Amino acid sequence: MSSWKTKFPLAVIVVLAFYALPYTLNGYAIHVVDIALIFAILAIGMGLVMGVSGQINLAQVAFFGVGAYTTAILTTHSGYGFWIAAVLGVLATVVIGLVVGIPALRMQSHYLGIVTLGLALGFVNWITNAKITGGADGISGIPVPPLFGVDLSSEYMYYYLEVVFFAVSMAFGLFVVRTRLGRRLRAMRDDSLAAGAMGSEIPLLRMTAFVLASIYGGLAGVLYAGLIRFVAPESFGQSQMFLLLAMVIIGGRRSLVGCVVGAVGLVLIREALVDFAVYAQLGYGLVVVLMVVFAPTGLAGIPARVIAAVNRLRTPGERERAAELGPFSPDEGSAETVSRDGEQPALEISHLTKRFGALTALDDVELTVRQGEIRGIVGPNGSGKTTLFNVISGLYRPTSGSLSAFGKGIGGVAPYRLNLDGMSRTFQNLRLFTDMTVRENVMVALDRSRTTSFWQYVLWPFGVVGAERTLRRQVDEILRQYGLTGFADSTPGSLPYGIQRRIEIARAMASRPRLLLLDEPAAGLNGEEVGQLAAIVRSIRDLGVTVVLIEHNMGLVMSLCERITVLATGRVIAEGSPAEVAATPEVIEAYLGESMSETPLPTPTEVPR
Ligand code: ADP
Ligand code: MG
Repeated sequence: MSSWKTKFPLAVIVVLAFYALPYTLNGYAIHVVDIALIFAILAIGMGLVMGVSGQINLAQVAFFGVGAYTTAILTTHSGYGFWIAAVLGVLATVVIGLVVGIPALRMQSHYLGIVTLGLALGFVNWITNAKITGGADGISGIPVPPLFGVDLSSEYMYYYLEVVFFAVSMAFGLFVVRTRLGRRLRAMRDDSLAAGAMGSEIPLLRMTAFVLASIYGGLAGVLYAGLIRFVAPESFGQSQMFLLLAMVIIGGRRSLVGCVVGAVGLVLIREALVDFAVYAQLGYGLVVVLMVVFAPTGLAGIPARVIAAVNRLRTPGERERAAELGPFSPDEGSAETVSRDGEQPALEISHLTKRFGALTALDDVELTVRQGEIRGIVGPNGSGKTTLFNVISGLYRPTSGSLSAFGKGIGGVAPYRLNLDGMSRTFQNLRLFTDMTVRENVMVALDRSRTTSFWQYVLWPFGVVGAERTLRRQVDEILRQYGLTGFADSTPGSLPYGIQRRIEIARAMASRPRLLLLDEPAAGLNGEEVGQLAAIVRSIRDLGVTVVLIEHNMGLVMSLCERITVLATGRVIAEGSPAEVAATPEVIEAYLGESMSETPLPTPTEVPR
């Protein structure tokens, strides 16, 4: 990371460049730059909701319009001063952002695209037809914003006002992206299911993304009303929306700087091609399609892609990377142990049934796991093991039956809440956050704050910074314990499978669970890695954590678990100590199949594969 010593001169140059720019521009050029800055703010909001949070939003231009029209209506019809109208304009936009966010509480993102498009079309329809908005003629005569005697009717002076708002918007956006809120939003984008299971309040986070976008949209709208002093429907229609999408996609939606570059670039190109507007539209369309196909991360993503490609050529192969994995070194002395919570079982399930349409995946399952146990769950493929975990961890609602953990009912409770209450899990088909570093992956789970604490971003940013420091210290400690320090800044996809499995366990443990569910943690591991896994699981249990383990590697299950539950076609067919289970004829039959019923199951003493 570059230190302030290199950053400071750079900052001075940027400030001077922004200051000096108007001196080089004629009256028309400064107008174009003023428009470009407004689009830049609009695009930052779009980048936050689409690129950072992964939510499709086609209503950003409607947010822009709500900000502009509210200011226009309040200043011209109701006689409010410009700045009061401006504040109310942004507030009105946030309210609309919340309204758009409500379907986001329940909907997956492609449907959300349709909902937001509907809102955008409805808005244009309304402003074109309503009386208060002046219909197709729009509203003129918006007053010049007063500012301590500075004449903002001069577009040169207005430029400086915009630069201040732009700088604050950019700084706030970058602050969000680089700290806990942005980290959660990115985790939601990469894998909303896993983010939920690691304690992120997904519905609320989606809404937060829309509210963020609406604040930027409203602010841009207010600045637009003050600059042009006239609003009309054509400024807020589909072609503007398309242009904005093109800006964000071409510039690079995942990088706020990229969004700004795209916005400024396209405004300038649009002005240059103003005589060929129709062809220009077609041209943007073509460029957008090419970008989506060949450079999905946009212009801003190209350097990173080049670096990644070079690194792939240069970096050691899988084998050498695997060798960088440090030993697992738990901190026995200082580690926090989980204290017992009365004599309640860690997990108590009775009469649990889960149906998918006609298929009964779980059929009247009974399961009790006492605190501090390592429980094995085995069974043939398709016997319902993963479904059982999905119901326990809140991803699926049970069709019937009751579930409780540590004496508290957990049926139908949201995954994030279960995680905050001390349940964590891994997934059979690894669900790491693919576009985040290993360190960030673990930090998402480590961060136990609630979405409601995000008021701090506005009122007490120092609180956010302080919490960030603590998290960084703790995450490095966890990475060290799990021997992952060497991979802290890599993305998981670039690492060998065995290491990814270890990262998933480290991430699950970072949320400090009392109950840990591991879904086939040994799948795809080599013999040595299976041995290390056994050591990790034992040490986790020694911390007082109850572990439930789905596994196909019978040697591992037999040597690790005190008790084993056997599932077949959704039913529990046996339960007991490894020796008892291994001796049950039904198990031998169900698990190994008729043809192999002569073959005995491995005994507990057998070494893992
Ligand atoms: P296991 O983990 O033991 O291999 P699963 O729990 O994944 O088994 O699957 C049990 C059964 O439930 C399978 O027949 C599977 O096809 C079905 N199943 C699992 N999840 C779903 C789902 N979301 N929708 C429909 N069927 C499902
Ligand atoms: Mg499974």
